[in-house]
Amino acid sequence: MRVIAIDGPAGSGKSTVARRLAERLGTAYLDTGAMYRAVAFAALRRGMDPGDAGPVARMAPGLDIAVDGGQVKVDGVDATIEIRGPEVTRAVSEVAANPAVRTELVRRQRDWVAERGGAVVEGRDIGSVVFPDAELRAYLHARPEVRAGRRHQEVSDLEYEAVAADIARRDSFDSERQADPLHRAEGAVVVDTSDRSVEEIVDELLGHLGGP
Ligand code: C5P
Repeated sequence: MRVIAIDGPAGSGKSTVARRLAERLGTAYLDTGAMYRAVAFAALRRGMDPGDAGPVARMAPGLDIAVDGGQVKVDGVDATIEIRGPEVTRAVSEVAANPAVRTELVRRQRDWVAERGGAVVEGRDIGSVVFPDAELRAYLHARPEVRAGRRHQEVSDLEYEAVAADIARRDSFDSERQADPLHRAEGAVVVDTSDRSVEEIVDELLGHLGGP
């Protein structure tokens, strides 16, 4: 089973690169951030405080989260658009810092990939926790203003300053949390994506793989 782990902070280009890499390899692609966003979405819909660890932890195991082909469904409701919105984006890091939520989602991520016989998987802890034995583990990063610029293009209805502040807030929250914080896993291939094209980066990553 071929597993490729791509980690990095928001706006590092990991989604674009991971999706393209999966396309080039003809394998499945899993966005694990969408799963954490799905749990945050469900908590908000139930009127929970996302930082209220007990109720959120008790809810997570019963949730039906379907992530496939870019579409995300939570308990049968299409949440593809809403999980990218500002409310979920504000709440997601607190939900992702909940160890019980992480245990549940890590198990689901491993099952998801096993069912498909391998995948390119992107997130924050893929090479360090979810698939430490992945064939390739990559850590993507970029200069802060480049990352904020990319996110600003995606969510053009928000001010650049608001986007940059949100990225900085999530970066520190995701890197400083106790449970599986974002960090460069030892042995990971580190790529600065600031001034390079997607195709160039994908070529570099493919160069680190053995045969098919
Ligand atoms: O990748 P994306 O920005 O959609 O991820 C949303 C949030 O989910 C991150 O800010 C982080 O808090 C959390 N996350 C995580 N572990 C992963 C993927 C995402 O903690 N593997």
